[in-house]
Amino acid sequence: MKLTKQKIVELLENSDDQDALFHLADIVRKKNVGDSVFFRGLIEFSNVCRNSCLYCGIRCKNMQIKRYRLTPEEITALARNAVHLGFKTIVLQSGEDVGFSCADLCHTIEEIKKMDVAITLSIGEREYEEYTAFRNCGADRYLMRIETTDKKLYHQLHPKMSWQHRYECLMMIKELGYELGSGIMVGLPNQSLESIADDLLFLKKIEIDMAGIGPFIPHPNTPLKNCVGGTLDLSLRTMSVIRLLMPDINIPATTAMETLEKNGRIRALNAGANVVMPNVTDSLHRSFYELYPNKACLNVGVSCCYGCLTQQIQSIGRTIGIGYGSHLKNSVKE
Ligand code: SAM
Repeated sequence: MKLTKQKIVELLENSDDQDALFHLADIVRKKNVGDSVFFRGLIEFSNVCRNSCLYCGIRCKNMQIKRYRLTPEEITALARNAVHLGFKTIVLQSGEDVGFSCADLCHTIEEIKKMDVAITLSIGEREYEEYTAFRNCGADRYLMRIETTDKKLYHQLHPKMSWQHRYECLMMIKELGYELGSGIMVGLPNQSLESIADDLLFLKKIEIDMAGIGPFIPHPNTPLKNCVGGTLDLSLRTMSVIRLLMPDINIPATTAMETLEKNGRIRALNAGANVVMPNVTDSLHRSFYELYPNKACLNVGVSCCYGCLTQQIQSIGRTIGIGYGSHLKNSVKE
């Protein structure tokens, strides 16, 4: 669907008619990607990070968290557990941990690929040669949010980082044939609705395959601890608009949405989302990967979470996706 920036801003600000927007996004979702909801098993394998993003609980300047880095064997064991439960995609996420070597990551990818799953990486900015190596070892998808396209805001929030470099990394990832996931946080300080509209048009322009949209939730041990944070409603409206703009992409109902409201994930699935990303990290390390406080489902065991989500999905008349749940352009290969 073609929408002007002005129309997008109108949709984002109109909270009175948001149910109509959610309903339309739900119809577009059903028509284009069907009723299946695909599971992705998220492994948070390291909270070591070289960056100090002002909003993030695992920023290197936060001295109050215990740092950890799982070994390739530990990661592979978590993946095997998830695969036994039925997961067909494993997402490997970490801070920007350059101490986790390219060789170790390649080895981990190869071991997990033997389990017949799709692999998504979400490990931030790396060198072109590394992106190439991971791809050659079998990584299928890459998730890296641009966070905001307002360059001034980006540079305020990300000391010593460059918006242009992050953009170039996204382009490298795309060129290497990964399915590309990107997205933004909603409710960042000084982020206007016009800026969010620009973000959505940017995501469409770079032809992402997956959009991760989540509210910013202030973390008490960060410089943004006293900020207000994003609301679930605006995050859902933002997500619904990207569904209208890009009818056939994959859109997760994010954990941050569930964190803000107990029913947040289901509301997202009813407003355009078609993917869920349960955490399959062991509960000890999960608690150390604290991007924001009170993360949903923090103490819920993996199999319990899988069962609970399955029930919730079926209760709204949806089905559990079979197969890898790739973007439609690639799903013929499944
Ligand atoms: N290091 C990788 C990267 O840069 O893409 C992946 C890990 S990073 C911690 C994953 C995502 O968490 C970020 O893209 C950001 O949008 C989100 N995030 C971090 N802190 C957050 C907060 N306080 N509230 C909501 N989301 C947050």
